[in-house]
Amino acid sequence: MSTSLLQVRDVSFSYGPIKALDQVNFQVNKGEIVALLGANGSGKTTMLKNISGLLRPSKGAILFNEEDVTKLEAESIVERSLIQVPEHRQVFSTMSVVENLYLGAYHHYRKTGKKKVDSDIEKVFELFPILKERKDQLAGTLSGGQQQMLAIARAVMARPVLLLLDEPSLGLAPLIVKEVLQYVKRLRDEFGVTVLLIEQNVSASLKIADRGYVMSHGSVIKQGSAKDLLNDQEVKEAFLGHT
Ligand code: ATP
Repeated sequence: MSTSLLQVRDVSFSYGPIKALDQVNFQVNKGEIVALLGANGSGKTTMLKNISGLLRPSKGAILFNEEDVTKLEAESIVERSLIQVPEHRQVFSTMSVVENLYLGAYHHYRKTGKKKVDSDIEKVFELFPILKERKDQLAGTLSGGQQQMLAIARAVMARPVLLLLDEPSLGLAPLIVKEVLQYVKRLRDEFGVTVLLIEQNVSASLKIADRGYVMSHGSVIKQGSAKDLLNDQEVKEAFLGHT
């Protein structure tokens, strides 16, 4: 049996005349954390949106659990437990922490029932004790790091098999970045969630990732184990600030 959970095959995508993805190929295996790296504008966010059904590839195919999901609507993709956490931690700021968490379970609430959802909330609170402490607080009053934790926790409530994370550390202080990424690692280790991670903080993300792909101008130009990429001269020069 294949261990491959997500396969991106020759995917191209254009915004009108702008070619944002050009025959991208990569895969994510079950249980992995895979980092998608690249400079601003290299196509990472566009790639995630093509996977989660927010955009549709103009060419190529996306397979999830060996099923071709290329043409599915975003809602059907969520139902298959492929969940994206968008950039800029879009929590519902005028709702409480716990209300945000309930909303994360929206897609399967009717099927699983309140008891299961409540027990998921308890598990999420075990992972993120700070959210339990602040469960009745409005999400908009949390710190940036806590809002990012809530955005991830809300995605966990959707019972993800594959989590797509778009720049979870954006705008966070370095210490908080480390903390948030450690939570991502625990999600994989303790909840068995497979993760595809976009992260500007290349060094921190490769420290928790198993493998990585480097994108440039809409194409994958390099791939390897996280360890090899961390020691790669080109990666060091381009992203790690030393030569
Ligand atoms: P960032 O780290 O800045 O988010 P990225 O690697 O995620 O960058 P994308 O946001 O996917 O890159 O952008 C890829 C290319 O597509 C860029 O040239 C960008 O200008 C272009 N682009 C992105 N969104 C749109 C849009 N809505 N309309 C037109 N062009 C877009």
